[in-house]
This record gives sequence, structure tokens and C-alpha cells, in this order.
Amino acid sequence: MTGIDDQWGDRVVKGAKALGVELDEEAKNRIAAYAVELLAWNRKCNLTAITAPMDVAEKHMVDALAVTPYIPNGSRLLDMGTGGGFPGIPARIVDSSLDVTLVDAVRKKVSFLKHAARVLKLDGMEAIHARAEELCLEEGRGAAYDVVTSRAFSAIDTFVAMALPFLKPNGLMIAMKGKGFEEDQETLAACGAALAEEGICLTTELIRYELPFSRSQRALFLISVKPMP
Ligand code: SAM
Repeated sequence: MTGIDDQWGDRVVKGAKALGVELDEEAKNRIAAYAVELLAWNRKCNLTAITAPMDVAEKHMVDALAVTPYIPNGSRLLDMGTGGGFPGIPARIVDSSLDVTLVDAVRKKVSFLKHAARVLKLDGMEAIHARAEELCLEEGRGAAYDVVTSRAFSAIDTFVAMALPFLKPNGLMIAMKGKGFEEDQETLAACGAALAEEGICLTTELIRYELPFSRSQRALFLISVKPMP
């Protein structure tokens, strides 16, 4: 018994819908298959502390899906510090036009990500074992992505500093945050002011949302790089 059953799938569909994301049958089945693999691998490698299936549905799958309306179709996307694949794998499941790079510094997590890509038949998705700050120095990685995402990764100014080298001009960074995101607003304002001195202009938008069942508060920071006026 995995606890990933029809009721589980319905919870993901209902939760996603509450956040404005419609899942078709294929996406629902792939997300369920992903959850089965995640929980099976979690027994041998530490991918997530959230293990109750209904919590995985809401706190991983539905939460990760909250970012998908903000990722333009056809984007080349880097998910930094992806861990077990959040939000990169759910984003790729709902939008097959995305070209997704998942990066994490822990080898065992990346082995899982490669396994998941194979089992879920997700082409257009690669998983790389690297520190993000080193990966951006590799050929074809710098100034090469439309969008860089992260969830629960680092302080927001650290994320901006690490994501900027990956971004094409006019690229978009999206940081997914939980508790304490109000403080991130101040940090981001200070970071934007410092970058403006270097001729890099950021525009930021805060999207607050609530997980549909637990009512936990979450936020997305949409941070765009614009040419200086
Ligand atoms: N994004 C996932 C999620 O929301 O479930 C995982 C979050 S986990 C708290 C942070 C992840 O970032 C870990 O898997 C860790 O290995 C990875 N990480 C930390 N520093 C990193 C770096 N410099 N480069 C790549 N990955 C890093």
C-alpha cells in the first residue's frame, strides 16, 4: 500500500484547481507515479521529510504546481537546489514545452531525479549533480536560461546572486517561499538597490497564496531582470 490512490489523485487535482492550475488525466497519473517513486526512494535516500501521502499531495505536488502559471511556455528553465524535483518536475509534467534542467549538489538526489525522468518518460528534462555556482561556469549554461526557479533553497539575495549568471537578458527568477517571506521583501529591496548600482535593474512582484487544505501561507517572488532605463 503506497497511499497513492484515486483519492490522492483527486486531492492533487482539487488542490491545483484551487490555485488556478487544471490537470488533465495524463498529468494526474504522472504526478501520482512521481509520488510513488519519491516515497519509495525516500526509504533509502533522504529526499523529503514530508512522508504522509496526503501531505505529499498538498505540500509538495500542489505547492510546486503553484508556480506553473508564471512560467512562459517554451522556456528553458533551471531549477536550482531541486532536491527531490520541486518545483521542476511538476512544472515539466504540466508543460511539455519546457526544457528543464534540475540541479542539486547531492549525488543521491540526482540519481533519483534521473530515475524519475526515465520512469515518467519525461524527455526535455536533464538532472545534473553540481553546485549551481560551479555549473554556471560550464559552456552553454551562462546567460542561457529564460527562467530560474527555486523552492526552499536559500536566502533570497543568495538565490538572486546565484541565478543571475544563468539568465538570458530579460530573464525571470522565481523564488518559492514559506514562513518568514515578509523578511525576504526587505532583503530583496536591499539586493535590488545594490544591483542597480552595478547597472542591473530588477523588478519584483510578490504573489501570496494559501495551500488549499492546510491553509499554510506561501509566497512567490517573481524577479525580472530589465535593461536599465
Ligand atoms: N527545492 C526542493 C524542495 O522544495 O523540496 C529542495 C529544497 S532543500 C531544502 C535545498 C536543496 O538545495 C538540497 O537538496 C540541497 O542539496 C540543494 N543545494 C544547496 N546548496 C546548493 C548549491 N550550491 N547548488 C546546488 N544545490 C544546492
